[in-house]
Amino acid sequence: MLEQRFSSPADCRQLIASRNDGSMPQEPYQRIMQSVFEKLLRRKCLEDPNITMLFGTFDGLKESDDGVISTLALLGTCANTNVHSRYVIGCDGSKSRVRQAVGINMHGEQLPVKYFLVHFRSKDLKRMHCQGPFWHIFYINGGVLISQDEIDTWTIHQAFPLDVDPSAVNPMDVIFNVLGGLVGPYMIDVDEILVSGFWRPSTYTANAYRSLEGRVFLAGDSAHQCIPTGAYGMNTGVGDGWDVSWKIAAVLNGFGGEQLLRSYDNERKPVGLRNVARSGELMQVHLTYLEWVQSASEGCLHSADSEAGRVLREKIVRHVESNDTEIAEEGLGLDYRFPDSPVVVSESTPQQPNWELLHYTPSTLPGHRAPYLVLSDGLTSTYDLYGPWYSIFDFSADGDAAKIFSNVAGKLNIPLKPVNLPGESHVKRTWEREAVLIRPDGYVAWRSSPTAGLVDENTAKAALLIAVGS
Ligand SMILES: Cc1cc2nc3c(=O)[nH]c(=O)nc-3n(C[C@H](O)[C@H](O)[C@H](O)COP(=O)(O)OP(=O)(O)OC[C@H]3O[C@@H](n4cnc5c(N)ncnc54)[C@H](O)[C@@H]3O)c2cc1C
Repeated sequence: MLEQRFSSPADCRQLIASRNDGSMPQEPYQRIMQSVFEKLLRRKCLEDPNITMLFGTFDGLKESDDGVISTLALLGTCANTNVHSRYVIGCDGSKSRVRQAVGINMHGEQLPVKYFLVHFRSKDLKRMHCQGPFWHIFYINGGVLISQDEIDTWTIHQAFPLDVDPSAVNPMDVIFNVLGGLVGPYMIDVDEILVSGFWRPSTYTANAYRSLEGRVFLAGDSAHQCIPTGAYGMNTGVGDGWDVSWKIAAVLNGFGGEQLLRSYDNERKPVGLRNVARSGELMQVHLTYLEWVQSASEGCLHSADSEAGRVLREKIVRHVESNDTEIAEEGLGLDYRFPDSPVVVSESTPQQPNWELLHYTPSTLPGHRAPYLVLSDGLTSTYDLYGPWYSIFDFSADGDAAKIFSNVAGKLNIPLKPVNLPGESHVKRTWEREAVLIRPDGYVAWRSSPTAGLVDENTAKAALLIAVGS
């Protein structure tokens, strides 16, 4: 068995606290089941007085100069309901009716295979953990087993040809056959089948994330569909929501401009394309050794006496060790960069930090996520000091840049929080500049020049106008 080990979130948290060198994210990763995550989001939405939740079906929309009229068939009502809004974000999954309504096409491909998923409960830990606790196990019969909580909830996927007869697929048999690998069914006690059904691995991306008329945006699977290898689907969707929501809010609050809305497609589509492509590459890592296994002579792989089996086992181990970095790709998960965004002030000769697949490299270069650091009080972090909208960090003794930015922002009606940190030499050294303008999403919109001296009003005005997309 080939093993890849992961730290627990508690260990990651300790590492983050012990480093404090600006190279770490604020939070560790966290494994969470979709059903748990969706319940949590639903509760948050219900608790938020700014959110009205309606249940039913979206049937279509019409865009006009001043807004969008969406037609909804709400649960418990017979007639359709028309809802007027300034903007619409279509988060309605891979078959998105919103995407269809605004005529945005997808490009990409579907693999010529179907997967059968069984989400089930089993307390048979003695058998399930017979080789120790795990997160994912990839079997050489093409099956995958995922431990959802280390207690009693698991998911199994098994590949089938496209023309499989669905009525001939029994979820219990799928569980036993996958767990048995190439040897034969492995019987465990199953307490409950929670969900089962087919899904098809797809790598599709929408040709645009915003409608031509400009009032409808796509986010999540309506904009991109990753294969689950890499676990990028939901993560990419959450990133879209984080990006588009503050931009629309800035426009609705009167200080955001058209470029801010335009920048959503510019910033997020490349991330979608990259993550979708990577999910396909990771899938290919598994498909490659499965092809080797299929063309090997029967029984050789698990025979201790077979020289061909030994050679193939070693070949698979080498292949997986050098190609499979699934779940460990922090660079891809966290280090998305927008240096060419129309709403950041690009530097003329930027010293881009190397982008690395496995490592996250924060930076105060415009279009990058600013480094997370804890201040000298040992408690407050740079992120704690961000305002709800824009923030200007100023590490100088007199705080002149913060004062000038605040003054100009006041005249332009742009909400800005000044943060003057004269004693924080460690943060200043890591953030590399005396003054840094942070967007509401923690990205850098502008930073002072290392040589140009005092920031003047014109510089502040130009930076702020670009940052709000005027
Ligand atoms: C087998 C599998 C494993 C996966 N594993 C991972 C993983 O480990 N990590 C990860 O990050 N991602 C994973 N994903 C991807 C993840 O599930 C999706 O990326 C994510 O669910 C997309 O969220 P979404 O809100 O955009 O779309 P969806 O989750 O598809 O939600 C869309 C919602 O819109 C509703 N809807 C659709 N049409 C209408 C309509 N006309 N009217 C009203 N409502 C409508 C649907 O009912 C649904 O509730 C996996 C996907 C699969 C298939």
